[in-house]
Amino acid sequence: MSYDVIIIGTGPGGYVAAIKAAQLGLKVAVVEKRATFGGTCLNVGCIPSKALLHASEMFHHAGHGMDALGIEIPAPKLNLEKMLAHKDATVKSNVDGVAFLFKKNKIDAFQGSGKIVSAGKVSVTAGDGKVQEIEGKNIVIATGSDVAGIPGVEVDFDEKVIISSTGGIALEKVPETMIVVGGGVIGLELGSVWSRLGAKVTVVEYLDTILGGMDGDVAKQFQRMLVKQDIEFNLGAKVVGVEKAGTGARVTFEPVKGGDKVTLEAEVVLIATGRLPYTAGLGLEEAGVKLDNRGRVEIDGHFKTNIAGIYAIGDVVKGPMLAHKAEDEGVALAEILAGQAGHVNYDVIPSVVYTQPEVASVGKTEEELKAAGIAYKAGKFPFTANGRARAMLATDGFVKILSDKATDRVLGGHIVGFGAGEMIHEIAVLMEFGGSAEDLGRTCHAHPTMSEAVKEAALAAFAKPIHM
Ligand code: FAD
Repeated sequence: MSYDVIIIGTGPGGYVAAIKAAQLGLKVAVVEKRATFGGTCLNVGCIPSKALLHASEMFHHAGHGMDALGIEIPAPKLNLEKMLAHKDATVKSNVDGVAFLFKKNKIDAFQGSGKIVSAGKVSVTAGDGKVQEIEGKNIVIATGSDVAGIPGVEVDFDEKVIISSTGGIALEKVPETMIVVGGGVIGLELGSVWSRLGAKVTVVEYLDTILGGMDGDVAKQFQRMLVKQDIEFNLGAKVVGVEKAGTGARVTFEPVKGGDKVTLEAEVVLIATGRLPYTAGLGLEEAGVKLDNRGRVEIDGHFKTNIAGIYAIGDVVKGPMLAHKAEDEGVALAEILAGQAGHVNYDVIPSVVYTQPEVASVGKTEEELKAAGIAYKAGKFPFTANGRARAMLATDGFVKILSDKATDRVLGGHIVGFGAGEMIHEIAVLMEFGGSAEDLGRTCHAHPTMSEAVKEAALAAFAKPIHM
């Protein structure tokens, strides 16, 4: 049997590409070395972390946020085993869903480690060592990413005391203290989970801001909110050592600007310093597939590698390491392989931090616009002036709309606040259609909703908000 396309890896990039290609009439095979489909995202990333973020937020809310609403309940009791079971059940239903969709779309799935033998040929080595070869006109590398360590520092992950995000979604006991190395999305999300469940969390971050790359205003406000939630920060701190100490671990860092070393100890240390493209064992060197200077598979504007018939998408190529970016690349590539015009708009890829409150962003930040010398207007509206936010005691945060000074076209949107991850999409849709701040500000928004703050921020960018 020869396939139209063989996809190695079934994360959001690979499985979505497979389904779309099958829908377009192509004969598709997938190869996955994990026991279940869905990749990092469904197994150990987006989905389990969101199950824990939601459950831990409910636990925290029951203990802290109900009195003011006139609901008096005794202090909630944590059943961590049950919470983890909820997370596992959520993962299972999602990965089973992908298996069902593969069957429904008549996609052949091969369990085992895929290796490119040559253009058009992939070998699959199963867990028992059996090897089979499959052939296809096109091969897609969708092998994702893996945990990065700390450059220059040896880290001995045991996933109990010194953990990556994978250990961070499976701790069997709430640690009293936790150090999170890395103040990016994953570190802050998992740090929040364990903080809400009772751990004293300290973040150590190399940059002098958290959420590097996010709008500076947003990052500062968000950090203030996390400090209120009792999370401590050491910014501008270069970690030079992580080692076991007694029953816990020790992290040593020095100020990036120079100064004395500081050592902190905690029961658990979570290393959340980012992820690296995963290409080990794929046979890329033998096949002659080029990598870029950061170890990512090099592709052109149509996901093509330097070898004819071999393509790559998702975390293993350039661009933000996000599930929905991988998915959109999967759809676009399937369309291209089916002879259609597939395209991803990299200027409009939303990004969300699923803490409480949430942080969401799409398009350019103020810092990026300044650096590019683009004249812009910024409209900002706080949730303290939004009726629905007051009713829900969710007044922390704001919406910021950035628009081109000359044309009024919206170039970016940034939200810190309850439900930010849902609200960001109206800005994304507007940007996809090249809309202006005036378009957004004149769109009738239901009252009372948190989304009215988006409309008001747009009004602030092109005229004046009403409620401020
Ligand atoms: P992956 O999901 O990494 O899938 C690659 C698959 O390829 C894996 O299943 C792997 O086993 C398989 N594979 C690798 N090599 C081979 C081989 N040789 N043969 C066979 N199979 C192979 N992103 C978001 O957008 N939102 C979030 O909320 C979010 N939360 C996250 C939370 C955590 C804790 C982590 C770690 C990540 C999170 N991410 C999130 C990032 C997201 O998981 C990735 O961007 C996404 O999974 C990338 O998809 P992918 O298809 O490129 O690769």
